[in-house]
Amino acid sequence: MKTALIIGITGQDSAYLSKLLLEKNYHVVGITRNILEPNFTNLDYLGIQSEIEMIEINQSEPERINRILNKYKPDEIYNLGAQSSVGQSFIDPINTVSYNILSVLYWLEGIKNLQLSTRFYQASSSEMFGNVRHSDLPLTESLIFHPASPYGVSKAAAHWLTVNYREANHIFSACGILFNHESTLRGANYVVKKIINAAVKIKLGLSDLPIFVGNTSIKRDWGYAPKYVEAMWKILQHHTAEDFLICSGNVMSLTDLISMVMKNLDLDIEKYIKVDPKLFRPVDLEEIYGDNTKAKKLLNWEYNISNQQLIDTLITDEYHFIEWESKKIKN
Ligand code: NAP
Repeated sequence: MKTALIIGITGQDSAYLSKLLLEKNYHVVGITRNILEPNFTNLDYLGIQSEIEMIEINQSEPERINRILNKYKPDEIYNLGAQSSVGQSFIDPINTVSYNILSVLYWLEGIKNLQLSTRFYQASSSEMFGNVRHSDLPLTESLIFHPASPYGVSKAAAHWLTVNYREANHIFSACGILFNHESTLRGANYVVKKIINAAVKIKLGLSDLPIFVGNTSIKRDWGYAPKYVEAMWKILQHHTAEDFLICSGNVMSLTDLISMVMKNLDLDIEKYIKVDPKLFRPVDLEEIYGDNTKAKKLLNWEYNISNQQLIDTLITDEYHFIEWESKKIKN
């Protein structure tokens, strides 16, 4: 039985990845910052919480990280823990940058010093590319980064550390450069989850409040999170450690996304969608989408979900999640 450590176990991707690894008969060890007041909703929703061994680590304790590495000698580590909100990174850049970079460094140093053969996955992000020129689209693995937020800067530094430990220390450390991927388990403050959750609640008669959004002209490459975690696993099974761009290859503006959601639910956009200038970011990426050819070719990773299918699936999933949540509250 293989052992996998997943850092940031309470997050969206960790939940879907845990499910995938458990199905593949892995021993999954979850690392969280807070075991006393954890939010295990995502794992609970997928019905897998009891199958995961939980460990609490304050990620600024390299000695403890080393002890855990020594104890488990994991076959694979998936570093999914991060302050992952771009908006929050403008509000709290110090915490974002220090956590997102140092935590990666401590794990890689531990693997190096203990001479483990652990394979290390780093959750890199399309936000590392920043505001790209139209002529650079679709983005590929070879484009130079010019991040446009403290989050993007932190992810770029963590990305290059991961590459450097591979090249300098021969560690199997690889990055998945993931574009926005969504699900009903996405944090409530992320725009797609926020819109779909609020819209479904309006449809169900649970709310009649407007939905406030920021810049809706942005164009993004959105995908379905459960499919993206399959790519993470495949990256660590590949015969060489390499970095892969993981995206849908489809582009859609937030305006179009909102229209699809409201059309699906037959809700009035004028009545329910309100732009709030306070939600605009100091700098925002206008248009970004990628080319997933390398992942499809070398990893045999399949992604054939259209934007319309994605929105319809997210809405169906949200109905299930809201129903599950209300049953949970009643019990
Ligand atoms: P998420 O839901 O925000 O989960 C990240 C987890 O990181 C949290 O649940 C938390 O787990 C841990 N964490 C550590 N430090 C934190 C801090 N200062 N503030 C908040 N949480 C902190 O993220 P995700 O959407 O699953 O994404 C997984 C990884 O992929 C992240 O590294 C993210 O930056 C990256 N990524 C995501 C996307 C996307 O579209 N979702 C795209 C590209 C890259 P504990 O409480 O258990 O410690």
